[in-house]
Amino acid sequence: MSVRTKPLQPLNSGQMNARNASNVTPIKLKKSTKDFYEHQQQQQQQQQKKKKKEKLSALCKTPPSVVRTRNGRDYRRGLFLGEGGFARCFQMKDSNGQIYAAKTVAKASIKNEKTKTKLLSEIKIHKSLKHSNIVNFIDCFEDDVNVYILLEICPNQSLMELLKARKRLTEPEVRLFMVQIIGAVKYLHERRVIHRDLKLGNIFFDPNMNLKIGDFGLASVLESFDSRKFTICGTPNYIAPEVLGGKANGGHSFEVDIWAIGIMMYALLIGKPPFQAKDVQIIYERIKKSEYSFPIDKPISAEAKVLIQDLLDVNPLRRPTIDEILSYDWFKGAFPDKTQETTLTKEPEGLTMISKNQSAMNFKNMKVNCGIYTPKTKNPVEILKTDLQSEESQMVLPRSLSPNDTKFKYKEVDPTMLTKKRFQFNSNFSNSVLDLDKTCHTTYVNMCKLETLVDSKLDTMTLPSCENPTLISKWVDYSNKYGFSYQLNNNDIGVLFNDGNTILKMTNNEKFLELLLHEQEGWTCIENSIYNAPSKCKKQLEIVDFFAKYMNSNLSKVSDVEERKEIVFLRRYTRTSDFIMFEMTNGSFQFNFKDHHKLVVSKNGLAITHISPTRITQTHPLILILKQGNFPSVSIPDCMEKIEIIKQAIREKAFV
Ligand code: ADP
Repeated sequence: MSVRTKPLQPLNSGQMNARNASNVTPIKLKKSTKDFYEHQQQQQQQQQKKKKKEKLSALCKTPPSVVRTRNGRDYRRGLFLGEGGFARCFQMKDSNGQIYAAKTVAKASIKNEKTKTKLLSEIKIHKSLKHSNIVNFIDCFEDDVNVYILLEICPNQSLMELLKARKRLTEPEVRLFMVQIIGAVKYLHERRVIHRDLKLGNIFFDPNMNLKIGDFGLASVLESFDSRKFTICGTPNYIAPEVLGGKANGGHSFEVDIWAIGIMMYALLIGKPPFQAKDVQIIYERIKKSEYSFPIDKPISAEAKVLIQDLLDVNPLRRPTIDEILSYDWFKGAFPDKTQETTLTKEPEGLTMISKNQSAMNFKNMKVNCGIYTPKTKNPVEILKTDLQSEESQMVLPRSLSPNDTKFKYKEVDPTMLTKKRFQFNSNFSNSVLDLDKTCHTTYVNMCKLETLVDSKLDTMTLPSCENPTLISKWVDYSNKYGFSYQLNNNDIGVLFNDGNTILKMTNNEKFLELLLHEQEGWTCIENSIYNAPSKCKKQLEIVDFFAKYMNSNLSKVSDVEERKEIVFLRRYTRTSDFIMFEMTNGSFQFNFKDHHKLVVSKNGLAITHISPTRITQTHPLILILKQGNFPSVSIPDCMEKIEIIKQAIREKAFV
């Protein structure tokens, strides 16, 4: 992932000591409600005096300028990013120049078992999550003094800083933020994770101004969907009434996150949280009665009020579910397509001018981007138009790229390649010769064979290794003019031009490959430098760059970046009303279905990969999936039907 961020800067002591005064430290107390209040009162009296000492993060020493991990990786420490109750956060740069955020916890602060368990739980939970609106967990390591949690960097601070700078936000902006937050919370709840500390200060902006939920320090995984939690925890302004009720009240569950979403929505639109008071005790009293008002001098729409009132219902069971929130009328208002960086300092212009249709389209696109997919369209052609042309709907495509302009819709590209053609590299990359028709045939035969083995014992079989394959993560069909452009999950970008030749531009590399199609021999590979491109390639390279720019700014990725393991490019693609099929030169077959689930058959049909609409990628031996009828841990709609469609599509290629 290319991260646009400020360069690493040396640490300065002023920044190092800067405290985030309004960043209220979350509480986590396992006490009865009565004890809890008493404790709170005592705490308040001493709070001002003790505040600095109480923060465990104060124990955190500045990490050395180079942190070396046990497996030999070096990270250079950079700018101080911020401080929570537990940790301090610093920029860290790896040897490739990639910048991350390192949440740094002093070992001195994790001496007792409880804190150790808490940190371990945070790491375990965060590590298991992968979603476009959750701060990505990268790695975890330690040195003598600190434990480091390496995270995707969010260089544009959090919603808290945004609100401080802007005082209040407009409804269209908040609508977009709400969808991104809801996308992440839906993902968490589906995995039985309750965040329990959702607040403006824990929701960060990534380099592209997308929101990402962070800080899983109070998160908890429920044993089952109907179990309850009893620990009183959260941040005062955001605590749900049932949490304050403690055990006597029957505990709390997912609805506490819904409540916090209501608090955030109110705070963003009005400028401060609804129950705000100097005295924490008064905050709690107000929360228990849901006692708040909409100030007349800060008008908001009636639709916004309805949603806030429902989210802040004292009875958790009456609050809307995560899916219900998005069907509130408030979401039918103006909806921008993205958040601009200028938003951080001033109110964006023209948001109320966004048309109803455009808003509806932006809302739908944003839901898809955030992993919230609601297939409401009845007309299948409609789904095809909006979803199949690319990973985004037609509205994000320039007119010239829209499906209506694609002359060769659903065509199979270059069917002549089905005849006996050979694929050959003559560069020093590879000398392998692959008979691609044979790959279709072998894959089909193996898939059929596996079906007959479904009842056999696994230990009698040799299972394939199951690393995730190289696959196409973004694409644009522009074959009515130039060709088919795609980006692989190793970030290489290719264009399969209409004459059958491909230009493959390697990421982080000055090289590009010209893959020339010959009538008899298949492809020849010529390696060139971009600085020294033959004149006949210059125009083509310009086209590749145009697509690269377009894809990077308009399309979201299907899967995360993987290292380049091999040189792979697209050999052929086929579009039908149900899927788009990519045949890759490494012998894998990728199928993007119109419901946003993707399957890749690799290893000559022995392995299968699933990429969920939220980009979770998993690869398994196909036999396991056939035996179980679906993938472990996710349920793919019509999984077996999809595998059958794949088999038949490959069969068609094998027997032409
Ligand atoms: P704590 O568990 O101590 O509350 P947080 O996760 O809230 O720690 O992190 C403390 C501070 O570090 C945040 O308030 C923020 O300023 C900064 N921070 C945390 N994660 C990131 C990130 N991914 N990118 C940039 N800054 C971050």
